[in-house]
Order: sequence, then C-alpha cells, then structure tokens
Amino acid sequence: MRSLWKEVDLAALRHNVRMLAAQAGAARVMAVVKADAYGHGVAALLPVLREMSCFAVACMEEALALRALGLAQPVLLLEGVFAADELDVCAAEGFEPWLHDGRQLEWYRHAAAKPACWLKVDSGMHRLGFAPSEVPQAVAALQGLPCRGLATHFACADEADLSHAEAQWRVFDALPLPPGWLRTAANSAALFALPQSRADWVRPGLALYGMSPFAGRSAADLGLRPVLGLHSAVLATHFVTRGEGAGYGCGFVATEDGYLATIALGYGDGFPRAIASGTVQVRIGAAAFPLVGRVAMDMALVWLGREAVPVGSPVLVFGDGHPVEMVATQAGTIPYTLTTMLSPRVHTVVKNG
Ligand SMILES: *Cc1c(COP(=O)(O)O)cnc(C)c1O
Repeated sequence: MRSLWKEVDLAALRHNVRMLAAQAGAARVMAVVKADAYGHGVAALLPVLREMSCFAVACMEEALALRALGLAQPVLLLEGVFAADELDVCAAEGFEPWLHDGRQLEWYRHAAAKPACWLKVDSGMHRLGFAPSEVPQAVAALQGLPCRGLATHFACADEADLSHAEAQWRVFDALPLPPGWLRTAANSAALFALPQSRADWVRPGLALYGMSPFAGRSAADLGLRPVLGLHSAVLATHFVTRGEGAGYGCGFVATEDGYLATIALGYGDGFPRAIASGTVQVRIGAAAFPLVGRVAMDMALVWLGREAVPVGSPVLVFGDGHPVEMVATQAGTIPYTLTTMLSPRVHTVVKNG
C-alpha cells in the first residue's frame, strides 16, 4: 500500500467536542461536516459523530450521505435546496434547509410536505440571505409554518479587529424574533471571539477538527487537538552536486552539494502544486526540511542538505507537532483547504477508534 495516509485521531475529536461544548456554555453545538468533514471523512469519524445531536452540511447530497451511514440526527442544509422537489426529500429525511431568498421561500410555501427550515439573514457578509429590511416580511410569510428560527454567518470573526463581526451581530440581534424561534450565528471563530453571538446553536467546523481560525492563536492555545495527520515516507534519496537540477522543469537547482529525498505526496493527492520551492516544511524525525522544486502528481522533493535519511523514513506533512495552520501559512493558503482538498487516493487510518 502506498505510503501516504491520513491518520484520523478519534480521541482528539472527542476531546474537541467536549471542549467546544464547554466553550459554548448554554448554547448547543451542531457539527459542521460539509465537504466530507473538511476532508477528514465522515465515515472515519462515525463513532464520535454518532454522539452529536445535529449536523450542518452544504447541500442535500451531503445530507443523504450522512443518512446512508446511519446517522439519523437533524441535518441543516446551509445552501438550502436547489430545486423545489428537494423539499419533499428534506421532509421525508429530516433535513432542515436554510431559506436564503424569495425563490426558496416560495418553493417552501408551496411545498406539499414542509420540512423544518431556517430563515437565513444577510447581516453583512453579502453572500446569502435576506436583507434585514426584508426579514419582517419573510417572517410573516412563514407564520404558522415549521420554521425553527433565524440564521446568519460572519465574514470576519477570525480577525484581530472584530468591529465588522460585532456590527453583524448587532444587526442580527436587533431583528424581532417570533416567540419560540431560535437563533444560530457563530462559526468556530465567533464561538471563541464573540461570546455574545453564541445564541441557541453554535456551528463550529474548523475547531471541531482541532484547527485554529485565528492567525495569532494556535489550536493548542484554544485547548484543541488536531484530528488529522498527513503522513508520508521517503521513497528514494539522491546525492546531488551544486548546480544540478531536479524534478519537472528542473524546478530545483542545488546551490550546494547535498541529499534530496523523494516522498509520496503530489497534487493527485490534493496537495497544492502552486507552492513556491523552499517555502513549505515537512518533518522527518525531529527536524523540519523544505519541499523544493515542483510538486508533481504523485511525488514531491525534500531538500535534506547534509542529512542522509534512510529510504522508508516517516515524513509528517502536517499533524500533531507540525500544525496544519503553520504549513498552510507557509503554503500561502488556509488550513481549511489543506485538509479539504485531500483526494480519495490518500488512505485513511483511524486511531483511538
Ligand atoms: C462552513 C460554515 C460554518 C463552519 O465554519 P468554521 O469556520 O469551519 O467553523 C458555519 N456556518 C456556515 C454557514 C458555514 O458555511
């Protein structure tokens, strides 16, 4: 079996679930598991996810995949339905679509079978949702129908300057709420940074998987443990002399004599090809070494310098002790993408199951 695998640590996930429940205080926690649990794999996480009381995904197809795995809890659809007939499936399956515009609202009002739903408010992100001025009319249209409440989403809750997030919360908080309606607003960042926004349900994704949404605070600072480790191994080593090139386009040229390691890791695994040579570090043993040259479909090159490591040596691309947030910064991206982009070719190993 190819030596590139993601190790999914269920003890870490259990720890994060407990930690986030404590952080949420009186609010309840739904697990955001869209994009196959940010690339971790819902199936691999099943023993822990079974204990959660509610899920959120992007769309009905993702919700059906949860049902196929035997998860029976309510599932919120963050992008709502894409056609009127999906509402029948939602009603039959216990999916709760968010309604973000007049078109979805009309489909809902005319649906024969009505699932529970949520009214999505655009409090300032300007991606999806009813403008605050349109909310009273939408609420009136839902009078007597099984709408659970109001939902919104923050654009900037991960930033050091919280003024935009605070302004969004003030807009949302000022909306009149019919009796019995609930509210949900906070993602991972707001759960930590904007306690007033926790409301009835918080919706962490990133933090559930043990990653920090904040540039200046690590997951460990937040009391979270990384769930995913991406492991590879050295397939070959080469001694190159100064001036020799390596990899496609000779994208690496040695500036001194030394060793290169070839590792199993490529864009065919979902690892970004666009990284600049030398910017991203992997860990071999206790030391960090740079990825150099061009990332190919199946392989990448690591500059070892004078260090000759044996073929078969384990390589940690990211994971416990080599945070994905740090690797993402080196790669010029965010941790969300590094886990979510992992392709099905990467094997999964479940730890502490
Ligand atoms: C993805 C998403 C979340 C979770 O966000 P994190 O930053 O991963 O915690 C919550 N709510 C909505 C609407 C989302 O799209």
